[in-house]
Amino acid sequence: MATVGYGIYSYQSNTQLETEKTQLSASLSSTTASLALALKEKTDLVNTLQAAANKNKDFADQLTQATETVDKLQWMNMLDPQLLQKYSKVYFLSENYVPRELSPIDSKYLYTPDRSLDIEDRVLPFLQKMFQAASDDNVAIKIDSAYRSFGTQATLKSNYIVKYGSGANSFSAEQGYSEHQLGTALDFTTPTIGGSLTGFEKTAAYAWLNDNAYKYGFILSYPPNNAYYIFEPWHWRFIGIELATKLHDENKHFYDLDQREISTYLGNMYETATSSVSQ
Ligand SMILES: [Zn+2]
Repeated sequence: MATVGYGIYSYQSNTQLETEKTQLSASLSSTTASLALALKEKTDLVNTLQAAANKNKDFADQLTQATETVDKLQWMNMLDPQLLQKYSKVYFLSENYVPRELSPIDSKYLYTPDRSLDIEDRVLPFLQKMFQAASDDNVAIKIDSAYRSFGTQATLKSNYIVKYGSGANSFSAEQGYSEHQLGTALDFTTPTIGGSLTGFEKTAAYAWLNDNAYKYGFILSYPPNNAYYIFEPWHWRFIGIELATKLHDENKHFYDLDQREISTYLGNMYETATSSVSQ
């Protein structure tokens, strides 16, 4: 009986084992399927995250680009293309133009020290350096005129007309006045010549300016025999060291150049050295 019993038990036990094995196998394949699913979900999740990360990067790139564009616009805005514009009898500066910021010039540089004169703020350090250099070379230069508003200029011109009649038209070459309205142009004189400016071209000051002014970014706007105005040896304009040096090296004048070429120097106008020096 025992043997039979054992046999039955053994049979039952085998059956049970088979069942358990089948169940286990089923469970295993179910787990494997779950795992595969989980793995797929994980891959999808990673892909989604990657896509999101890429999107963020694209967005960040776009943001950077947008910021750069705004910066560039602001920078361009700061530059003020009027400051390197050629003015003539047919191309005037708007009467509403006012410089971005004006600063008073130290009275020790002025021919008439008790009369306050202003200059465009960013030009002032260049002017100071130039005057220091002239002083080091024992050359006496004084400033007779600097920034002039449109209103001031109109009054000045009508005074010329009262004083000199219709001849004032050639004299109002001082209507290089657009340049004075910029705040970047100056009329120089010497203690000897004074406010009349007559004969300035024969002075040591004029010779010194011709040799050195470009190093500080200043140029003679209306040289002898120019096509725009009468020769104005006293009238100098700030255009930046790089462009002034180029004109000096190539023996050219500001008004000889094409406006498009001039405008390319706008971005370097206030740099303190020429690119050939700084490179
Ligand atoms: Zn002038």
